[in-house]
Amino acid sequence: MLETLIAIFLIYTLIKIYVSFLQIRFVSIEKNQKPILMNEQNYIKAANYAIAKEKLEIASSLVDMVMVLVWFLGGLALLQSLVNFESEVISATVFMLGFMAVSYLVGLPFNIYKTFRLDAKFGFNNTTPKLFIIDQIKSIGLFLIFGSAIIATLSFIIHSFALWWVYGFFFMFGVVVLINMIYPTFIAPIFNKFTPLENKELSNAIESMMQRVGFHSQGVFIQDASKRDSRLNAYFGGLGKSKRVVLFDTLVQKLSQRELLAVFGHELGHFKHGDLFKNILLVGVLLFVIFAIFGNLPHLLFEQLGVEKNSATVLALIVLLSNVVSFIFMPIFSLFSRNNEYAADKFGSELVDKKALGDALVKLVDENKSFPKAHPLYIFFYYSHPPVLERLKELEYDIN
Ligand SMILES: [Zn+2]
Repeated sequence: MLETLIAIFLIYTLIKIYVSFLQIRFVSIEKNQKPILMNEQNYIKAANYAIAKEKLEIASSLVDMVMVLVWFLGGLALLQSLVNFESEVISATVFMLGFMAVSYLVGLPFNIYKTFRLDAKFGFNNTTPKLFIIDQIKSIGLFLIFGSAIIATLSFIIHSFALWWVYGFFFMFGVVVLINMIYPTFIAPIFNKFTPLENKELSNAIESMMQRVGFHSQGVFIQDASKRDSRLNAYFGGLGKSKRVVLFDTLVQKLSQRELLAVFGHELGHFKHGDLFKNILLVGVLLFVIFAIFGNLPHLLFEQLGVEKNSATVLALIVLLSNVVSFIFMPIFSLFSRNNEYAADKFGSELVDKKALGDALVKLVDENKSFPKAHPLYIFFYYSHPPVLERLKELEYDIN
């Protein structure tokens, strides 16, 4: 049983590395072709960034594999021998906090390297070490409060019910819905400032667009994203009263009024099509599959791991191995998301016009130095947005 799990994780790691390798080779070749959508200097820079990011991804996959082996071949048993409380729930919570702390520390160098080396080298990073540390403290604080509460509840459910995986699924699905609801109003403001749009002419235009679409929100929100990263973005988030379109300050600075309206229209398309609800449902299906699998792990596996089968070790296995299940789902998620993006583009371009949205997309690619081409298998797995050339083609945009 244990050998099978290790073999599955090894195959998963190899597939990921293979896809990254294909992408690196593809971009390395495309890099030398005639530049599109950006000048030669930016085109090569974008290619080099895509390659460097993928190399980091490979290193991270290898470390993940090593960590799974460490946990499987004695790590989990060692941690369990260190954590011994009378109460199952307290034991499981402390065990999982220890487990997550190790994962966090292993991932931290990657996080630091990406922000202060890679992103800094390519001119994206604006995060100061001080801000980075503050962010880390806030994230850890949030995790200690909410993560512990979630772990403790799951541990209680696993410990108390034979059919725990069904209740566990419903609980986690509830958590996902709740997070989506409170994200814009409660979680995001912990990390960023959100200010109303100052440009009256633009905000009036947006206001009237929202009315036409039937989108009720407390205005337009500008996020001070530039304090961490110079790349441009916008998103639609929140459920019910908390729903809103957020524009990054970097986007507002670089796009013309018409282009901004087109991007805003695209985001309103996500609202109009109920994309967030559909996404949450899809996450629900994934959660259900994960709980159904991990709710029925044989005792033999825990014997082979040298640990007691209890809520702590079950939760640790879910965290360690659910990525494999998610990875199988990823092409479906990506395909679904790419279709939503086409539909949102269509909606946005009809609300404003095709040319403005096309112009905005070209500017985004150039400013964000996102390489406009990718290997088909890489797109199949990871692209939540269609390749920009196909989006532009759909908008009948002339790229020359
Ligand atoms: Zn979108």
